[in-house]
Amino acid sequence: MDTIQTSPHDATAPKIERVRHELKRRSLVVTDAERITPGMLRLTLSGEDLADFVSLGADDHVKIIVPAADGTEERRDYTPRRYDSAKRTLVIDFALHEAGPITQWAMSARPGDVLNIGGPRGSAVISNVERWLLIGDETALPAIGRRIEEAGAAARITSIAAVADPGEQQTFDTRAALTCHWAYRPLGEATDASALLAVLRTVEIEPDTFVWVAAEASVTRAIRAHLTEERGYPLRWIKASGYWVKGKADSTEKFE
Ligand SMILES: Cc1cc2nc3c(=O)[nH]c(=O)nc-3n(C[C@H](O)[C@H](O)[C@H](O)COP(=O)(O)OP(=O)(O)OC[C@H]3O[C@@H](n4cnc5c(N)ncnc54)[C@H](O)[C@@H]3O)c2cc1C
Repeated sequence: MDTIQTSPHDATAPKIERVRHELKRRSLVVTDAERITPGMLRLTLSGEDLADFVSLGADDHVKIIVPAADGTEERRDYTPRRYDSAKRTLVIDFALHEAGPITQWAMSARPGDVLNIGGPRGSAVISNVERWLLIGDETALPAIGRRIEEAGAAARITSIAAVADPGEQQTFDTRAALTCHWAYRPLGEATDASALLAVLRTVEIEPDTFVWVAAEASVTRAIRAHLTEERGYPLRWIKASGYWVKGKADSTEKFE
């Protein structure tokens, strides 16, 4: 493990420490498959290869690797939702959608199936933050849930998550003070930011709140524009990512 970059730090700035990990491919076995909601599939993976698994950031990602029809491999980013290296277990939540080789593989996965993963290559560890605003769609819920569950008692967290309907709401165990908002829109309208924006407009953002955003790229862009242009919120307190791009397989977008 190797710290490679630390953001400028003063008393009121969030501190973001980037830690690099040895890149490793691990071969795991599916030990449980459970629909935690109709649209969210949770796979529990186990294996000795997890003995040295490290993921320090709630929004870390691993590469899920599955065989492609042409003999190559498909790889996509997924969040380590929860892990226990002593027990050699790793939990990944898959937001189900119609197309996509990883989603198809996950939907047919059964206990005993083998899954290869790569990484995480690195972690972004955010500290010096007590107030959080976490905004995202179904693909962001694993990172949002992990951030909420790992937070300490001093943290105050507000989340705004876009899901299809109340049946997709999740509950989180946390020591933090937590307010969850749910924005409903059909999955087919996952590129329409209006449901999230309508809720966001009702939420006051106190100074020194770290705002984390992840959703389909155009939705992330719209939310980021609302924060910076309409509300004048400072960029150094925002981390925004496009976790997928409508109509493009294997695509993500970073917003600096
Ligand atoms: C850092 C990071 C962490 C992530 N963590 C998670 C996670 O924990 N759980 C999770 O479910 N996803 C997560 N994602 C998103 C996931 O990587 C993408 O949704 C991925 O494209 C799914 O792969 P696929 O093989 O199913 O579809 P692809 O082959 O990549 O895409 C096929 C088609 O489906 C569309 N598509 C992709 N994802 C969705 C979606 N969610 N809804 C509707 N259409 C979609 C694409 O636009 C494309 O047209 C994360 C992404 C990033 C960047």
